[in-house]
Amino acid sequence: MAEVDLNNERRKGISDYVRYLEMRIQELEAEVTYLRREVSYYKQEIEKLLSTPLIEGVVLEVLEDGRAIVKSSTGPNLIVNVSGSINKGNLRPGAHVALNQRGSTIVEILPVREDPYVKAMEIIERPNVRYSDIGGLEDQVREIREVVELPLKHPEVFRELGIEPPKGILLYGPPGCGKTLLAKAVAGESQATFISLVASELAQKFVGEGARIVRELFEFARKRAPSIVLIDEIDAIAARRLDIGTSGEREIHRTLTQLLAELDGFDPLDNVKVIATTNRLDIIDPALLRPGRFDRVIEVPLPGLKGRYDIFKIHTRKMKLSENVDLMELAKLTEGATGADIKAICTEAGYNAIRSSRRYVAMEDFIRAIRKVLGSRFRPYIPSSSREKGIDKQVV
Ligand code: ATP
Repeated sequence: MAEVDLNNERRKGISDYVRYLEMRIQELEAEVTYLRREVSYYKQEIEKLLSTPLIEGVVLEVLEDGRAIVKSSTGPNLIVNVSGSINKGNLRPGAHVALNQRGSTIVEILPVREDPYVKAMEIIERPNVRYSDIGGLEDQVREIREVVELPLKHPEVFRELGIEPPKGILLYGPPGCGKTLLAKAVAGESQATFISLVASELAQKFVGEGARIVRELFEFARKRAPSIVLIDEIDAIAARRLDIGTSGEREIHRTLTQLLAELDGFDPLDNVKVIATTNRLDIIDPALLRPGRFDRVIEVPLPGLKGRYDIFKIHTRKMKLSENVDLMELAKLTEGATGADIKAICTEAGYNAIRSSRRYVAMEDFIRAIRKVLGSRFRPYIPSSSREKGIDKQVV
């Protein structure tokens, strides 16, 4: 009997020990898994520390032989090979890529940045500029309403009549005379998204990215349609060139080619309209003015007497004026002034009133402001009443 008890006890002891060993095995297996993970993590860290850095670049062109021209972030344009692991279909001009350390091969296409649009464009949902904010320029307003506002608002009229409105309009004239203002007003009145881009920035600030930004601009405009795209200073990318020898010129040419391709690609009755501006119509590449592109050219000249009077009226609308302020006289004194000059004159006149501790703006504030803003272009002020009496007297 005593022997049976002894056997039972031994069996129990062994079973307990087996259970203990099984538990230890489980614990040790968990520890092995954990340590394996640690080893692989630290191995990866060592690899990262030892790996050579890659060079970032932007694809300018994919060559027929499968190589590519890349603008590297280190400076020069490189002709490089493309690694076999790269999906060649995704390799397009404008794509951001990583080159191996010697800069000889594209080894990775980098993901598209999240904010590609905001970088070079100014996007205003619905500008609150109205036609009534534009002084003079009645003919230009009428024309732009016909060729931009009407097709955006009522494309069916054009479809019915079977005529095609222009896709693009080129506004030209001296700076500060209201080209941007006209574009904003037509966007405001047509309830369209206003997207503007300064072409000279494409050429200077966004080297290697011009074509991509143009493509994204149009993609974006179509998404936010109806929209009006304003390309300011278009001569920076669309000037006539005799040769395109340097890489900078080739880059600008690629940007222009992309712009023309985008223009050719959409329908005249799509609800995207493009307005471009320039101060130099004489140097614009004629390819831009062909039918189906910027086929309506509108001049926005310096304002005449009536125009200047209207612009003074607009910019003094909210000002408290003394009774002696004669806007027609001010218009006569500002021959050669632009709309932007007149706006600056009105603001400066307001400051003059503040400096004189007055709560209203008087004629003399304007005269002083004209002298300051126009400088040597200023013509002395002779009140019309004195002039009528033949008195050649200067008031200031
Ligand atoms: P740039 O060629 O330099 O771009 P622009 O012709 O586009 O010049 P705007 O930017 O439209 O000139 O004008 C600058 C400012 O001058 C406007 O915001 C507006 O306040 C004023 N201005 C210019 N022209 C007029 C106008 N005809 N009527 C009222 N304000 C005007």
